[in-house]
Amino acid sequence: MDILDHWVSGAPFAGVSTRTAPVYNPAEGTVSREVRLATVADVDTAVQSAKAAFPAWAETSLAKRQSIMFTFRELLNARKGEVAAILTNEHGKVTSDALGEVARGLEVVEWATSIPHLMKGEHSENVSTGVDVYSVRQPLGVVGIISPFNFPAMVPLWFFPVAIAAGNAVILKPSEKDPSAAIWMAKLLQEAGLPDGVLNVVHGDKESVDALLEHPDVSAISFVGSTPIAKYIYETAAKNGKRVQALGGAKNHMLVLPDADLDLVADSAVNAGFGSAGERCMAISVVVAVEPVADELIEKITSRLAGLTVGDGTRGCDMGPLITKEHRDKVASYIDIAIADGATVVVDGRGVSVNGGDGGFWLGPTLIDGVSTDSDVYKHEIFGPVLSIVRVASYEEGVAIINASQYGNGTAIFTNDGGAARRFQREVQVGMVGINVPIPVPVGYYSFGGWKDSLFGDTKAYGSQAVHFYTREKAITSRWLDPSHGGINLGFPQN
Ligand code: NAD
Repeated sequence: MDILDHWVSGAPFAGVSTRTAPVYNPAEGTVSREVRLATVADVDTAVQSAKAAFPAWAETSLAKRQSIMFTFRELLNARKGEVAAILTNEHGKVTSDALGEVARGLEVVEWATSIPHLMKGEHSENVSTGVDVYSVRQPLGVVGIISPFNFPAMVPLWFFPVAIAAGNAVILKPSEKDPSAAIWMAKLLQEAGLPDGVLNVVHGDKESVDALLEHPDVSAISFVGSTPIAKYIYETAAKNGKRVQALGGAKNHMLVLPDADLDLVADSAVNAGFGSAGERCMAISVVVAVEPVADELIEKITSRLAGLTVGDGTRGCDMGPLITKEHRDKVASYIDIAIADGATVVVDGRGVSVNGGDGGFWLGPTLIDGVSTDSDVYKHEIFGPVLSIVRVASYEEGVAIINASQYGNGTAIFTNDGGAARRFQREVQVGMVGINVPIPVPVGYYSFGGWKDSLFGDTKAYGSQAVHFYTREKAITSRWLDPSHGGINLGFPQN
C-alpha cells in the first residue's frame, strides 16, 4: 500500500513515526493509500527546517516574493484539474464543486500577489520639530496552519499564500482524512520557485497538532475545524504564548420572508444545503420560513430534490458521498432523532439509489419539517445533507432564533424588501451575511470569519486581516540630529 510522506525541506520525508492512518475513496468505501501520522520529533524536524529557511526568506525582496506568487497562481490555474481530481478522489465532492473550491482558493493567491502594497506602513512627517514617525510590518517567523477535511485545498489556500508572501515560513498540517492535496500544492509552490523549507507539510492527528501548539519556535497558529477543537486550539496556543486564530463550526440559517420569490429561494436552499453533501461550514442547514410560505417552499424544495443525482463525483452527479462511514452513520442518526422529537421527515436520504460503489459512504438529500429549536437536530452542527425547516410567525421571531444560536458563521435573508434586508444586516449576530445570496463567502480581498463559537480570536482569514495576523508592526520615531537638539531634559518627551 502506498504511504503518503510528509514534505519537509522541499522533499518527501518519512520521519520516525510508525503510525499511519487510512485515506479512503469515499465513493468506493475502499482505502486508496495510507498517510503517516507525525510524532513530536517529526514535527520538530519540520519546524527546524522552517526556522532555518525563515531568515533568508524574510530578507528576500518583496518583488521576488510577489513574482513567486504570480508564478504559483499561473501554475495552479493551469493545473487545477489535477488537484480537483485529488479532491474528488479523497473527499468525494463532485468535480465541478472541486474546481469551484480551487477557484475560491486562487482568489487568495491573487490577493497575496499584492503583497508589496499590502505590507506598506504609515509615515507621519514632522510629528515634532525634525521628528518623523513611521511604521513597518515584519513577518512573525514560523507559523502553523491546521486545516479540516472539508476543503483540503481551499482552506490551506486561505492562509499559506498570505503567510508566505508576508515573509513567514509555514508548517501546514492538513486533515489526515484527505491529505494529498496539500502535498500537491507544496510541490507546485516549489516549481513556482519557493525556496525549500519555506512551506513544509506535516501529516498527523492530535499528537502532531499538540506538538505544533507547544513548540517554542512556532509563533502563530491558524486553525479551521470543529468548535470544540477550535476552542482547545485557541486556549492551548494562547497559553503557549502564540498568536492564534481558530475558526470553528457553524449552523447557518436562511431566513425567508413572505415576499421572497420562492422558486429562487428553493433553488438557493437546495444548492446551499446539499452542495458538497452539506459538508461546508457555510452550508445552509436551517431554513427559517416566515409563514405562510413554509408549505409552498417545502413543495418546491422537494420537487427539486427528486431531480438530484447522487454518486461518484467523477460521473457528472450533483452530490457525492460523505467523508467516512462513521460520519455518514452519525449524520443519518439525526433522522431518527428528528422522528423521535416529533419532526416530519419529508425526504429521507437513507437508501438513496446511487451511481457509485456499493461500499461508498452514501446518504441522500434529507429534508425535515417542523424541527423544534429544542431538538438536537436543530442544536447540533450535523455537517451532512440534512436540511431542517423551522416555521416562524414573524421576521422578529426568525431573527431572535438566529441570534440565540451558539454559532455565528454565515446567514442569509431572502426578500424583495430592501428595508427588511437592511434591518436584518444590522440586527443579525453573524459574521458573514448574504442578502439573497445563500453562501456569502467573502471574496479574497475581504476577510472570512464568523462570530461567537464560529471564530475564537479576533482576526479573520485572508484579506487585510490576514496581513495583519501574519505580520508585526514596528513603529519607528526618527530624528536626524543637529545642534539644536542638544540639552538635558529628563521630562517625558512631548511634542
Ligand atoms: P476537526 O475539528 O475534526 O479537525 C480539524 C483539524 O484538527 C484536523 O487537521 C484534525 O487532524 C485536527 N484535530 C482533530 N481532532 C483533534 C484533537 N482532538 N486535537 C488536536 N487536533 C485535532 O474538523 P473536521 O471534521 O476536519 O472539519 C469539519 C469541521 O470544520 C466542521 O465543524 C466545520 O464547520 C468546520 N469548518 C469551519 C470552517 C470555518 O471557516 N469556520 C471552514 C471549514 C470547516
